[in-house]
Amino acid sequence: MKILAIESSCDETAAAVVENGRTVLSSVVNTQIEEHKKYGGVVPEIASRRHTENICGVVEKALSDAGLTLPEIDAVAVTAAPGLIGALLVGVGFAKGLAAAAGKPLIPVNHLRGHIAANYIAHPDLEPPFLCLVVSGGHTHIIDVQDYTHFHVIGRTRDDAAGESFDKVARSIGFPYPGGVNMDKVSGQGNIHAYQFPHPKVDGSEFDLSFSGLKTYVINLVHNAAQRGEEICREDLAASFGHTVATILCEKLFLAQQHTGRKTIVVAGGVSANSQLRAMLTAECEKRGLRLCLPPLSLCGDNAAMIGAQAYYEYLAGNTADSSLNAMATMSIDKSFADYAGQ
Ligand code: ATP
Ligand code: MG
Ligand code: FE
Repeated sequence: MKILAIESSCDETAAAVVENGRTVLSSVVNTQIEEHKKYGGVVPEIASRRHTENICGVVEKALSDAGLTLPEIDAVAVTAAPGLIGALLVGVGFAKGLAAAAGKPLIPVNHLRGHIAANYIAHPDLEPPFLCLVVSGGHTHIIDVQDYTHFHVIGRTRDDAAGESFDKVARSIGFPYPGGVNMDKVSGQGNIHAYQFPHPKVDGSEFDLSFSGLKTYVINLVHNAAQRGEEICREDLAASFGHTVATILCEKLFLAQQHTGRKTIVVAGGVSANSQLRAMLTAECEKRGLRLCLPPLSLCGDNAAMIGAQAYYEYLAGNTADSSLNAMATMSIDKSFADYAGQ
């Protein structure tokens, strides 16, 4: 089954053709990073406008790179939640029109389920159940993936996402948006023990996380140093911060692993590209005799191939939509679009 998938939840306009959830026939990503950089973050209104301008060309290229025409596609999939509402609406409107015109099924996909499914492309033998750490720009979740379309959230951040805290700390030391990747690049030249940062104490669920206190602590440290005219070593700060974030994520993830007993750990989302996190997870999984699946760097950030991969399993589960499908800015990963139909 060949699925044409469309992704426009944030600042990437992307389209891909994926066969049977596992084989990528084409994948096109048009990123708007350079434009949003000027403002230090994504400007939603600009993102929507650029999606509108780019989506036709991106979808046409995905079809032609796959050597296919629209009638040869079996279904159209689209990210319908969560994300920037104006950005999502461009993809959803386009996909609805395309599916109706071509007489193909329409498959709505949750963006976070898509991030997880990037691993089905990279690891052909990976199948649920497994324990997944989703670490992205807007989300930080520990999820028990029970099967391809059933998810149980075990822990989540109470405040900032890990990616968001990377970006805000990076901005305070003068790195352009998106700062996480720039922090990562210099962290190898810094000392992870140069700074001792506080680890969050989270009330309630033992698997929940928090990054806002840590972020504020680091930003205050940077501002106070600037006021005193002291130099901050960006390499040391990046190395210490990345190490602290990786340590916090690993602590909660392996606590959840002990709780669930899952033997396979999967990581997903933009922050799964982080080299310190990847190295720590690799070492910890090896020590504990667990299988670790990481997406390749090309599939960590937003793309449509991951949406096409998840869409195949949504289709097999009967999760298609009609022309009443609407985009949603927020949506829990354990809900299906049918739960919201008619609202
Ligand atoms: P969400 O998926 O939650 O809707 P998003 O789509 O904006 O949010 P992603 O594209 O999955 O997020 O990931 C982007 C985030 O990943 C940004 O915060 C970025 O700084 C961070 N990121 C990317 N590469 C790295 C890296 N190497 N180290 C740390 N953070 C990184
Ligand atoms: Mg992006
Ligand atoms: Fe994302």
